[in-house]
Amino acid sequence: LVSKLPSVGTTIFTKMSALAAEKDAINLSQGFPDFPPDARLLARASTAILTGNNQYSPMTGLPMLRDAIAQLVERHYGRIVSSQDEITVTSGASEAIFDAIAALIRDGDEVVLFDPAYDLYEPAVTLAGGICKRVTLTARDFRPDWQAFASLLTDQTRLVIINTPHNPTGSCWQAADLESLWQAIASHDIYVLSDEVYEFIHFGESAVSVHKHAGLSTRSLVVSSFGKSFHLTGWKVGYIIAPAELTVELRKVHQFVSFCTATPLQQALAEHLLALPDASDELGAFYQQKRDVLRRALADSRFTLLPCDGTYFQLLDYSAISDLDDVAFCEWMVDEIGVAAIPVSVFYQQAPEGQRVIRLCFAKEESTLLEAASRLSGL
Ligand code: PMP
Ligand code: GLN
Repeated sequence: LVSKLPSVGTTIFTKMSALAAEKDAINLSQGFPDFPPDARLLARASTAILTGNNQYSPMTGLPMLRDAIAQLVERHYGRIVSSQDEITVTSGASEAIFDAIAALIRDGDEVVLFDPAYDLYEPAVTLAGGICKRVTLTARDFRPDWQAFASLLTDQTRLVIINTPHNPTGSCWQAADLESLWQAIASHDIYVLSDEVYEFIHFGESAVSVHKHAGLSTRSLVVSSFGKSFHLTGWKVGYIIAPAELTVELRKVHQFVSFCTATPLQQALAEHLLALPDASDELGAFYQQKRDVLRRALADSRFTLLPCDGTYFQLLDYSAISDLDDVAFCEWMVDEIGVAAIPVSVFYQQAPEGQRVIRLCFAKEESTLLEAASRLSGL
């Protein structure tokens, strides 16, 4: 068999979580909470199952959930979207991203990514016959370089994939970045896939969103995930918002990839969002507190803490501790101190020479964070 993805192995998340389980290590690698979601939401899900919401939902998602999403978007961003024609519920943000790329990318189309990038974008582009071009975010503060970006655009460029707040770096774009992006692509026939799964997990000023940019929102598909916003990564319920003509194409793919997403989970989320429309308002403060617990506990360690403005990931530079490359260092750390992390080089096409940085997930109980920090401080 000739592989369609010869350079792809098993994801780093599967590998590191398996290693953490095997060695009984504290798992700060794959991003998921170790605390339970809101009990009222769990009760709604079990009621939805027990009262018979167990067959296919409409292909586009339960109308009640699409209405609730439209209200969420209006409440947070002041953008009015049509729940009928512009919102599609998917099996996680992953499915939404995959569908969008499959729907838009033709053989030879070019897609611009920012390096480092979340691991699912490039394989999805490759499978669709597209070619990824990467523009490297600046060292340390991971900012986009708009001149370098503009120089990558060609007549073949069809899509730009952006992600803010950003996994793996925790950096966040500013409104001026969205404006620079718009200035660069406005006169070209280019779409934007905006991965905003961490939209509510940002610290300080409110996160920028394509939803708030009048020009970009006419050309963009915006993805989010209830997995992140309600601490339910295993439910795999996400959604994608795009202008009607793009949504028509997206749904052509979605109807054959999954057709629909688990109906009782959609029902539970819809009821929850309608009962508690402000449920995600406190998410930033909630995770900021966890970030600060971890940062304070590591302040005197030999790790250097990089800035973290959003997401539930903290980057650590370990160059004062080891000369190992980051993959080897993460494997060594699991064995040596029983803490699993993610090497950041795996998100790059070309990681900067000599960069020694790992990612820790702080979506964890305070006790988990303190125990991990105490082990890390011994290095
Ligand atoms: N994009 C980014 C940046 C992510 O971090 C994740 C989840 N870790 C996803 C997409 C996929 O989200 P989901 O689990 O809802 O498929
Ligand atoms: N997005 C999660 C992370 O960055 C992992 C999701 C997965 O394992 N597919 O850790």
